[in-house]
Order: sequence, then C-alpha cells, then structure tokens
Amino acid sequence: MNAQAPISAAALQFAVPASRWNDALAAALGPSELLLYRSNLLGSDLTVTNFGGGNTSAKLIETDPLTGGEVDVLWVKGSGGDIGSMKLDGFATLYQDKLLGLEAHYSGPQDDDRMVGFLPHCTFNLNARAASIDTPLHSLLPFAHVDHVHPDAIIALAASSGGEAATREIWNGRIGWLEWKRPGYTLGVMLRDYVAANPGIQGVMLAGHGIICWADSAKACYEHTVQLIADAANYLNRKLVKRPAFGGRAISTAQDRAAIAADLMPRLRALMTGSRRKLGHYSDDAETLEFVNSVDLPRLAALGTSCPDHFLRTKIAPLVLDPARLHDDADLAERIAAYRDRYSAYYQRCKRADSPAMRDPNPVVVLVPGVGRITFAADKTTARLAGEFYANAINVMRGAEAIGNYIALDEQEAFDIEYWLLEEAKLQRMPAPRPMVGRIALVTGGAGGIGAATAARLLGEGACVMLTDRDGAAMEQVRSGFAGQFGNDVVRAVTCDVTDEAQVQAAFAACAREFGGLDILVANAGIASSAPIEETTLALWDRNYDVLARGYFLTARAAWPLLRGMKEQGGTSVVFIGSKNAVAAAAGASAYASAKAAANHLARCLALEGAPHGIRVNVVNPDAVIRGSRIWDGDWRRERAGTHGIDPGAELEEHYRQRSLLKRDVLPEDIAEAACWLASDASAKSTGNMINVDAGNAQAFTR
Ligand code: NAD
Repeated sequence: MNAQAPISAAALQFAVPASRWNDALAAALGPSELLLYRSNLLGSDLTVTNFGGGNTSAKLIETDPLTGGEVDVLWVKGSGGDIGSMKLDGFATLYQDKLLGLEAHYSGPQDDDRMVGFLPHCTFNLNARAASIDTPLHSLLPFAHVDHVHPDAIIALAASSGGEAATREIWNGRIGWLEWKRPGYTLGVMLRDYVAANPGIQGVMLAGHGIICWADSAKACYEHTVQLIADAANYLNRKLVKRPAFGGRAISTAQDRAAIAADLMPRLRALMTGSRRKLGHYSDDAETLEFVNSVDLPRLAALGTSCPDHFLRTKIAPLVLDPARLHDDADLAERIAAYRDRYSAYYQRCKRADSPAMRDPNPVVVLVPGVGRITFAADKTTARLAGEFYANAINVMRGAEAIGNYIALDEQEAFDIEYWLLEEAKLQRMPAPRPMVGRIALVTGGAGGIGAATAARLLGEGACVMLTDRDGAAMEQVRSGFAGQFGNDVVRAVTCDVTDEAQVQAAFAACAREFGGLDILVANAGIASSAPIEETTLALWDRNYDVLARGYFLTARAAWPLLRGMKEQGGTSVVFIGSKNAVAAAAGASAYASAKAAANHLARCLALEGAPHGIRVNVVNPDAVIRGSRIWDGDWRRERAGTHGIDPGAELEEHYRQRSLLKRDVLPEDIAEAACWLASDASAKSTGNMINVDAGNAQAFTR
C-alpha cells in the first residue's frame, strides 16, 4: 500500500436508469397485475431501489365480497417484502374509505405507533398480508398510483446540505421538499398537507429518506419514477466529473487484498463475541475501494449512514481499521472493544423508559483501507445484504458531498428507529434460528457420496458449507444443486486435492474469505484400494497414504489456526470419516486399512492437542456404504467381490447386508447423521471418540 498515491482523477458515476416498460406485455395485464409488473420492474433494477427498499401502491376498484358493491381498495406493498421479487400475494389490500376514516383516531405524533395497530382493521377480503409502515403515505395522497423509492442518487440529494437547492434546480419546482420525519402516520399527514398546499407538484423529496411520486396510470407512474431518478443521477454525474470523490485518494488498493481479507476475517470473527457466532462477507467493489482509500474516510465514516433502510442493516457507523496494524491482534481487539463501548454509550444516551434491551454491540461493517469492506451478521445473507446496503450508503455520501455536505441522521432519531417498539416486535416474531446457523463447515471430498450427504445435512441445519474436492466438475454439480435447495449464499466450492499442500492452504483461505472463518472440518476425501500384499505396488501404497494419511494431516493442520480462534465462542469440531477397516484388519486391503488406521490415530492425537483450544476431534467409521458412493463404482467393488468370491452386482449389496449384525444397508445419510451430531453442540462433551456406523460389525467394536 502506498500512502503517497496520486489523487484519482474522477469520481465513480451513478448508474442512470431507463424505462424497461413493455407495452405488449402490459396490455395483457389487469389492474392489480399492472401494479405488480410496475413494482417488479422498479425493484429488480438496482439503480432504482435497493433490496427490499421502497413501496408501491394503486387505488383500485374491487367488488366487496360482503355487499357485492364496488369499493375503493388500496393495494400497497406488504410489510417486509421486496418489490423486485414479490408476487401478487405480497400486497396488502385495505378499504380506502376505512383508511381515510382512521384520522379520527389521530391527534398527533404521539399516536404514530397506535395508528399502525388500526391498519389490520381496514383489511379488505381477509387478506392476511400486513401492510407496510408507509401505508399512510399512500392512502392519504389523493392519487391513483404512488411510488416511494430510495435509490442512491435520490437519497444523495435527500441527505445533502445542498439537496434542497439541487432539487429546485433539477426540477424547477415540480418536485417538493419535506424535512426529515420518521416514517409513520404523522409523515403521511404532513405529506398530504404539503401536497395540498402546493398544487401541481409531481412528487416530494423526503429529506434523509427518499422520494415519493405519483401518476394517473401504472405506466406513467413507473416512467415518472425512473425519469426522476435519471434526472438526479445525471445532475450528480455532471458534478462528480469535476473533482475526485471524497477529497481524493489517500492510499492505493493492496494487490493482495483477497489474501489480507482471508487472514483478517477469522481473527475479527473470533473477537466478535456475543450470544451467537457471525458469518462474514467481503467485498472489494469499486465504490467501496474509492471510499475506504479516500482522504475523507475518517470524517465521513464517523458521521454514519442516513437512510433508515441503511442503518437498520449496517448500524449507524462502521468500524474503520488501521491498514498498518492489521496483523496486530491486540489492536484489533482494542478497536472492537472500543466500538462496543461506543455502541453501549449511544444506547445509554438515547434510550427511553420503554426501550427494548440493548442489542448486539459488535460492529456490522468493518472498513479496511486498501482492502475493502467486511460485514458480519447472524447469517450469510444478512451479512451480504448489510454490505450491499453500506455500498448504497457510500454512493449516497459520494453524491451528497458533490453538491454540499453529507448530512447523517440525528443520533436520537436514528436510535428511535433502531429501537422502535414496532421493529422490536418484528424481531420477536422471527422464528428461532436453526441450530447450526452461524456455523461454517468445510467438507473435503464433498462431491462424493458421504461428503455430499454430510454437507446437505449441515446445510439443512443452517450451517454454511465450503465444498472441496479434486473433481471440480462433479463438485460444481453438487454445489449448484445445493444452491438451488438451500440458497446461493450458504454454499461455496473450491477445487482442492487434499494431497497438495498449497491447494489445501488455498481452500481454507477461500473459506475464510467467503464466510469469515471455520467452525467445523469434515475430513472425508478418500479412496479405497484392494490388493494382496505381494501385489501392492509402492505406487498403490503411497496413493493410499497420500490421500488418507497425508491428506487428513494437511487439512487438519490448515484448519487448526481457524478453529483455535473460536474457543471463547464455544469451541469447534473436527470430524474424520474413518473406516471400519481402521479398527478391523482387512485381508487384501492392507494399504487402505493401515492408512485409515493412521488417520484414526491422528484424530486421537489431535483430540489431545485440540482440547486446550476447544477443538474436539472425533471419528465416524463407516462400512459398506455402497449406494451413492463413488468408491463402490470402480475397481474396489470388483476387487472386494473377488476377495469374497461373489458377483460384483446385486449379490454384493446382499453380501454386506447379511454380513452386518443388524442385516441392514448403510447409506451416506446414515454417516452424515453421525458426522453432523459430532459437528454440533449436541456432542459438546465428546472428543477422542469413534462412532461406528456399519449396521453392526463385531470385529470393529471399540474397546
Ligand atoms: P466417494 O468416492 O463417493 O467420495 C470420495 C470423494 O473424495 C470423491 O468425490 C473424490 O473425488 C474425492 N477425493 C478422492 N481423492 C481426493 C483427493 N486426493 N483430494 C480431494 N478429493 C479427493 O466415496 P465415499 O464412499 O463417499 O467415501 C468418503 C469417505 O468415506 C472416504 O474417506 C472413504 O474412505 C470413507 N469410507 C467409505 C466407505 C464406503 O463403504 N463407502 C467405507 C468406509 C470408509
């Protein structure tokens, strides 16, 4: 990194949206479908609105199911939905006349929270979808179609000392300006009165927040919204070409930033102690690098984010690290502790008599000059979204500073939103997380039968999984299947031959960078071979020892520093997939069986070494997992059938079934069940153990 880097020439620009309305498509749609079409078009265009952000409405005539008469119904986005991906059932539907009648219950801002409670009483047609908190903004405006969005270019105006003047300059009075007021019924009343007092205006900027605008048809409303955003973006872009963003560059980007992030993230994660472990997300996107490398970073980062949508995800302010001290664990610990102290002090300063208890005081956003942005949250999707929201906040600051000074939200206002009782109620309603949410697992041989079944089991319990395998194509198939089943955020894959030291190191670094660290290692990648001793070539011997002894050693050694750091957070777990043959001698498979025995003894040694660091090490010994295993597809099947003097086809499965004490098949899912238990806190008091999952085999009984 170079502290004397030259000042960069021009700032990054805002994306300028254009209408994507398709008349032919729209012609076939009914009124509510047109609202959905418009909403999806707006929400799926990230230049228009951020994830989940914004809400849309239409006042439509519907047939009352009770009277059969026609009634005005407000269709408005439901609470918590995302307009980009919502379906028709994501809208709340409410009797417009009842909504207007609610004003009888309102006597001032102190009634804001109470007013929310009346909304369900206005429900039309038993629609269970809860209405957005912004419903009064839509219902109290006398327009058929209303959009309320928070695109970066708009919030940049809304959060700048120069925003009101810019709004006048851009739209020449067609768009009004309303001072900051937190969302709720009072804002709806203020907006309605403002619009009534300014006839002819086509929209209103809501300071610190976003814009609301309207039109007579769905298409006109959509195009109006897109045009307003394009106007704002073009205006800001003209200003931004004139000077570098954020006072210019103070430091240049580190070439090895991905490696720095991989090294840093597990150490930060280990320091973020609290009731639950966190998942990390790293980004070095262009807007983040422009910001974290800038002269103005310390000043602007300290001001905090402005739009409520942003800071609910990001906390008000990020933690900024010193790029010269990233290797210094004591410095990191001090900075995180100081952040927590600042957060508690903010809570103490701002809390009200009925405020909910203080929430997790750890930072969500960590900015690293030269490297990028790291976000931590209770699950991977939330961590990624927090990062994306902070990128939005950066865009806002860049635009706002181009036309004046960026204005962050007043601290008490921010607190009142963060600790809003309604927000707390929403949190309380959330279902308890699955047991392994917050855990990160790496599974070697993840493309194979037992590896994939174990990964699926861990994913099903909520863990994030890094799949590794030397067979990249087969692994990609498994990964994409899991991404479809469990979501893209929670599964990653990296090709890695466990016998190759550099590849193993790289796989763990990738896991650290993708998820933030490691809690669980499932060492499973394996092969099998069968040959009498005189026919066991040195090459065959070495291949078994390479994969099963050296491979397990290399993966465990690479996992160690990541696992060791999590002692304070309850410890970590290593699971070796061993073999019945590790404890029961096998004729004609000495290379395989003795290499497996070496791996199992390695597990016992590591259980001793790991205990002081909270690392548990246990083994699952499978036997005869024929279905789903690729080992049994090849020579091993033929060779074992030969050894037992049976047909390698159906007879083989029957042979192994009958050989077991319980006379049952052993499936990859059975091994996965044991591995998952050993990986979980349910086995927190067990280390140095072996569990046989072999349908019973007296030779393998442990003693
Ligand atoms: P599998 O062949 O279906 O899966 C093993 C996976 O490991 C494959 O995807 C393979 O590509 C991968 N692999 C092999 N060598 C590798 C290397 N050097 N680097 C990275 N990846 C490598 O077999 P499975 O039955 O799922 O076996 C998984 C584990 O269970 C192995 O350790 C095996 O010895 C053990 N085991 C299996 C059985 C059984 O009956 N299937 C019995 C006892 C033990």
